[in-house]
Amino acid sequence: MRVTVLGSGSRGNAILVEADGVRLLIDAGFSGKDLARRMAAVEVDPESVDALLITHDHGDHTRGMGIFARRFGTPLHLTPTTRRACQGLLRGDEKVTEYHSPSPFNLGPLLVEPFLTLHDAVDPVAVTVTDTLTGSKLGVATDLGRPTTSVRAALAACHILVLEANHDDALLWNGPYPWSVKQRIASSHGHLSNRAAAELADELYHPDLAGVVLAHLSDSCNEPAMAHAVVESSLGARSYRGLLDVADQDEPREPIEVEALRARLAPAQLSLL
Ligand SMILES: [Zn+2]
Ligand SMILES: [Zn+2]
Repeated sequence: MRVTVLGSGSRGNAILVEADGVRLLIDAGFSGKDLARRMAAVEVDPESVDALLITHDHGDHTRGMGIFARRFGTPLHLTPTTRRACQGLLRGDEKVTEYHSPSPFNLGPLLVEPFLTLHDAVDPVAVTVTDTLTGSKLGVATDLGRPTTSVRAALAACHILVLEANHDDALLWNGPYPWSVKQRIASSHGHLSNRAAAELADELYHPDLAGVVLAHLSDSCNEPAMAHAVVESSLGARSYRGLLDVADQDEPREPIEVEALRARLAPAQLSLL
């Protein structure tokens, strides 16, 4: 399984997952043109994308979905409620397949398991994606609100996590947003702080966790180095040796070869036995 965060933050989100020649794009929060530019940067032809899955109706996840689906003939996967909420982006000639959380479904070798979150969208879901050929499991855990017991259970045993680290608490409360926006972001229906991300990373840690990519960072209330440091100290206490990366708003990150990452960690784990 190969995972590429094409971009993540308050201004747009898109993650590409590939396994055995099947390509799944999770969210399309950039313009169609910008999505194509980002894919070109990692040498992926947009026409080769087999499915586009939308997690919820917020613009930073849906902006380019209609244009992308029409231009490249990509089948769209979204829940019926999110489909209704996104009518303005659709013309009716897209190939749409509705999915229902929490019913899992397959896209070639990829097993997609959606689950409900508390985020303040009309029908917010997060997903895990498992490569059934290798067993590698990705958890996309952004726009979480408060991570409920069922969300934490759904994210258990992931080998790679794209984990929301939206804001630093002090920067949020001292920052430029109106009071109501600050309250919304920090609420149980908003976004995870760096501290909350660190706690969730600690809870989700297991010896086969090979990669954590911090994502959905706020432009004005966070710094990549701050988010990295807070989660690094939390995972460091668990002797974590995997990748810890921070997603970028404007450019794709290096593709992550999940099995290679897992193999790199395996010898040390075996030597502990
Ligand atoms: Zn959202
Ligand atoms: Zn978002």
